[in-house]
Amino acid sequence: MINFNVPPFTGKEFEYMKEAVENQKICGDGPFTKKCSEWIEAQTGTAKCLLTTSCTHATELAALLADIKPGDEVILPSYTFVSTADAFVLRGAKAVFVDIRPDTMNIDEKLIEDAITERTKVIAPVHYAGVGCEMDSIMDIAKRHRLMVVEDAAQGIMASYKGKPLGTFGEFGCFSFHETKNLSMGEGGALLIRDEKYIEDAEIYREKGTDRSKYFRGQVDKYRWQNQGSSYLPSDMNAAYLYAQLELAEEITQARMERWNQYWELLTPLAETGRIELPYIPAYCAHNGHMFYIKTKDLEERTRLDGFLKERGIYPTSHYVPLHSAPAGIKFGRFHGEDKYTTKESERLLRLPLFYKLTADETTYIAKQVKAFYEIN
Ligand SMILES: *Cc1c(COP(=O)(O)O)cnc(C)c1O
Repeated sequence: MINFNVPPFTGKEFEYMKEAVENQKICGDGPFTKKCSEWIEAQTGTAKCLLTTSCTHATELAALLADIKPGDEVILPSYTFVSTADAFVLRGAKAVFVDIRPDTMNIDEKLIEDAITERTKVIAPVHYAGVGCEMDSIMDIAKRHRLMVVEDAAQGIMASYKGKPLGTFGEFGCFSFHETKNLSMGEGGALLIRDEKYIEDAEIYREKGTDRSKYFRGQVDKYRWQNQGSSYLPSDMNAAYLYAQLELAEEITQARMERWNQYWELLTPLAETGRIELPYIPAYCAHNGHMFYIKTKDLEERTRLDGFLKERGIYPTSHYVPLHSAPAGIKFGRFHGEDKYTTKESERLLRLPLFYKLTADETTYIAKQVKAFYEIN
């Protein structure tokens, strides 16, 4: 049986988690949290990285820092995980969905400007499958309309657009370290802050509205309630797990890329017959092998292929149900313009198993079974 995902594990996690316990520092912001944040800051070249309990929480922090108020609008794709919208909706914002590009499944940057109103405050692009959105255009639109950009880079660690790491273009970038992501701590995430002026407020929101972070650095002699806030910091035990993965980030990414490229080579002949479509990676996007998907003719064919593979012990998965069609999406959002691709393309997409320890033989077997389906159909 080949599962869709196996959480990444390198071998060093137990040692570091044991060390965290022996440090007698298992709450947040201990030595491993510091190591992880510094590693991410160095890797991305961003001013500040704050480790969080999830990407959802990192996005909530971004919404607080962007000062989202009831009635504000956020422009995002409908083809995304709920958190991209919910983090803003929780602050009273309206989610304004625009269509995606069928090639990358990312927000269609050409449709953003038309969705802007006087209530728009944020553009929230999602780097689907670790493939960068058209950040040059998006940053240009944001600049001209004085909007903030919050990147949902949940799937984007170790990936870049024109040489610049995903998550570092907008005011804020959000990573996920959920067990389904390339690098993991079980549940967890990180907020990347581009501009130093937001750091102090971010630390306060993250630490229950207090200046405890300053206190720990010895900058104030007691910490006090300063503002609204919540608890967004992960345990140092989770950070210890993550640190083992960050140390091997290159190797993990490389291993995933090898499997991704293998799928690509094995399935290209089938794609050339026009029966399936493969992902499109713009030349200036360096992705991270987060996801390998194929697109079938339609939903009916996808359902049959899914069943065919499951009968052979392979567990692929579809992906997002477009948010604008979901109960909360109808309540808290609206679709601007025409849904030309969001629903149609989402129904055709099937993700094949891809994880750190997936073997070359397993990949060959999966590709062979996909081809077998099309030979008999
Ligand atoms: C995984 C994911 C999230 C949520 O991440 P959590 O860490 O589970 O909160 C948000 N957006 C996208 C695009 C994701 O893939």
